[in-house]
Amino acid sequence: MNSPIQHLPAKKINSFYPPQRTLMGPGPSEIAPRVLAAMSLPCIGYLDPIFVDMMDELKTLLRYAYQTDNPLTFPASGPGSVGMEMCFVNMVDPGDKVIVCRNGVFGGRMIENVTRCGGVPIVVEDTWGEPVDPNKLEETLKQHPDTKVVAFVLAETSTGCMSDAKTLVEIAHRYGALTIVDAVTQLGGTPLFVDEWNIDAIYSGSQKCLSCTPGLSPVSFSERVVEQVRARKHRCQSWFMDLDLVLGYWGTTNRTYHHTAPINGLFALHESLLLLREEGLENAWSRHTRHYLALKAGLEAMGLQYLVQEPYRLPQLNTVRVPEGIDEAKVRKALLQEFNVEIGAGLGPLAGKIWRFGLMGYSAKTENVMLCLSALGSILMDMGYPVKVGIAEAAAHQSYSEQHALAAAKKIKAA
Ligand SMILES: *Cc1c(COP(=O)(O)O)cnc(C)c1O
Repeated sequence: MNSPIQHLPAKKINSFYPPQRTLMGPGPSEIAPRVLAAMSLPCIGYLDPIFVDMMDELKTLLRYAYQTDNPLTFPASGPGSVGMEMCFVNMVDPGDKVIVCRNGVFGGRMIENVTRCGGVPIVVEDTWGEPVDPNKLEETLKQHPDTKVVAFVLAETSTGCMSDAKTLVEIAHRYGALTIVDAVTQLGGTPLFVDEWNIDAIYSGSQKCLSCTPGLSPVSFSERVVEQVRARKHRCQSWFMDLDLVLGYWGTTNRTYHHTAPINGLFALHESLLLLREEGLENAWSRHTRHYLALKAGLEAMGLQYLVQEPYRLPQLNTVRVPEGIDEAKVRKALLQEFNVEIGAGLGPLAGKIWRFGLMGYSAKTENVMLCLSALGSILMDMGYPVKVGIAEAAAHQSYSEQHALAAAKKIKAA
């Protein structure tokens, strides 16, 4: 006897059509139309020779984005958190000492990863909104010369602060430690040179400055890591993330089934990396800076103040202090409901104190900057904050035209 079918409640469920939003939060960013189109193409098999050729191109494009020759460079199947975990489970064995530099939310997650791997975390703390202090790292390494790995976040999305990866890696290597670097928000937005900076293991995400669908994590591992993985005595605690096994699929010869790749997602990543290649890395970086300067001009014209000091600011993630007496959640709600604009809230100790304005990838464009400033000005004015509608747009306009003039002058000089 079959059991009776359980019917759903009467509420009708329709096909889901998300609204068109302007995404200016900490990610996801807006997806470029060409990337969306690539994603909707028919699925093919994950060992189809045509797909396998596409995987090779994908790895080549990723090496360009990361500025590395590392053969072991590929998109892990899963969000940025999977890339993070893939680094830790392959590089940290029980009892290993790992220094984690924490200056925001994501450093905290790294500590959690170390603990779950059975490692011994040693935490170098810095204030949220400030970069990792290289002197503190060096002091800690002196006290713990047997440290195996140093881990830090290059672009802290929770605070909008960038650290000096080149210096931190150089210090770690001087004490014989390998490095794990979080570049989830960095990749495609601000300069990153994996080989020149000698980074050992790095991971990123598809949905921030690459403007691709969420759920993919580009990773890259140096030969130093590969050697260590080959020599390890323990089997990696994770079957899914074991680099030895994943290599059977993403390696260069005899590809075999490991797990079903997120095929259409990989079509999308291929297209988004192609867009990055067509634009050129330097142009993508300077585009992020150009729109940051205009947004900054507008926000400051409204009297808002940045959390992070200028030299450490991430152009792709702007954090500003919420003015005294303003209900920050109400502002975000009005931005979303009245203007279809999404921005981010503060996290941890910064909750309620800051807003986070993302200018990532395809979202880093003039119309987003102008709409956001206009919407914010009108909402703040309605709430009684002393700002005149229009002053922010005028300041942003001024910034754009000064930058255009500067670029034109440079061109004439070069010609
Ligand atoms: C977004 C983000 C992550 C996590 O990525 P998910 O795709 O959400 O798993 C990790 N680190 C940083 C710095 C991030 O900004």
